[in-house]
Amino acid sequence: MSEQSPLDLPEGDPFGPHNLPYGVFSTAADPAHRRLGVRIGDHVLDAGAAAHALGSPYAQLLAQPTLTPLLAAGRTAWRDVRRALTAWVTVPSYRPDIEPLLHHLSTVTLHLPYEVADYVDFYASEHHATNVGKIFRPDGDALTPNWKHLPIGYHGRAGTIVVSGTDVVRPSGQRKAPADAAPVFGPSVKLDIEAEVGFLVGTPSALGTPVPLAGFDEHVFGVFLLNDWSARDVQAWEYVPLGPFLGKSFATSVSAWVTPVEALDAARVAPPARDRELLPYLDDAAEELPGGFDLRITVSINGEVVSEPPFASMYWTAAQQLAHMTVNGASLRTGDVYGSGTVSGPEVHQRGSLLELTWNGTEPLQLTNGKRTFLEDGDTVTLTAWAPGPDGTKVGLGEVTGTILPARGA
Ligand code: CA
Repeated sequence: MSEQSPLDLPEGDPFGPHNLPYGVFSTAADPAHRRLGVRIGDHVLDAGAAAHALGSPYAQLLAQPTLTPLLAAGRTAWRDVRRALTAWVTVPSYRPDIEPLLHHLSTVTLHLPYEVADYVDFYASEHHATNVGKIFRPDGDALTPNWKHLPIGYHGRAGTIVVSGTDVVRPSGQRKAPADAAPVFGPSVKLDIEAEVGFLVGTPSALGTPVPLAGFDEHVFGVFLLNDWSARDVQAWEYVPLGPFLGKSFATSVSAWVTPVEALDAARVAPPARDRELLPYLDDAAEELPGGFDLRITVSINGEVVSEPPFASMYWTAAQQLAHMTVNGASLRTGDVYGSGTVSGPEVHQRGSLLELTWNGTEPLQLTNGKRTFLEDGDTVTLTAWAPGPDGTKVGLGEVTGTILPARGA
């Protein structure tokens, strides 16, 4: 009886050949050698070595320690490389060359797979924005007057984007509750998560030239899960009038795997109906492809599911966000990352932050190992997701996970 090949995947594996997310890995035997790989099942294929073994014209592009050169190569290269990789893991005659280049995930270390250029984070869920508005501005309108006219965003800190699995040190900072006479300094007591979807820019754009809605597929290479860790007490005191700063910039975790946009063709869905007319550069009613993505996210704390936010419910799409962030002529760079904003659905169990799930700490969650309002030291938060794939398959998004370490003294 022949041994089972790692390429013979169980029926319905969400990391089958229809997915093929990219990552960067090293092995214990050769820890300094970072290599570009694609995930297939619970293995990673050394993409550069495979390309070399098979005489691919893309061997040089794939024999790299990061995804960045492939990102910069543009959409035609993305398609050609994906087509080649799909053939290598599915056509039986390639198996003798491919199988020795597969590494089980339990034997590799995963790294941040690209050099992050700029980082922007949005605020695109109407349910999230409404909940936050009710919590922070109970006497005013939940949504600000601009909310339904433009995708609100801010520039984040690119240098503190970390790969999944990186521990997160509890941040310290100033906080002042409304009843306090003066601000105090210390470790955040309202450390939170934000379950988001990130988008990775490949093809740059020219300074001064806006990218239209239809430019999404040309410029955006892939999709991944993102956790925008947030210190709510620091944030609440500092954010007026210029927006988030130290309450967010201490760490943002991203998945080690980037799923190509092309793998999500079957997950494209129309966004929710808009109840007002949009300015032409944001009006996507006549676009060829729907702008939404049907991604089903799960949020777990210490292995217990606390929320299942539906990305299909997002009011603003990734294409609208791209059009908005370039409409003033700001250019895109290879490696730009932008986050969707917290994904919250209409139901209580679909809220993508503890701020909402516990209503700013007033309604604790009951977990097996105790109640939670906000995160405690030692808590591990994990986001996973899947999307509908071709022919009834599922496309898995690589998880993003992180554990809270105690604050460190100044
Ligand atoms: Ca956020």
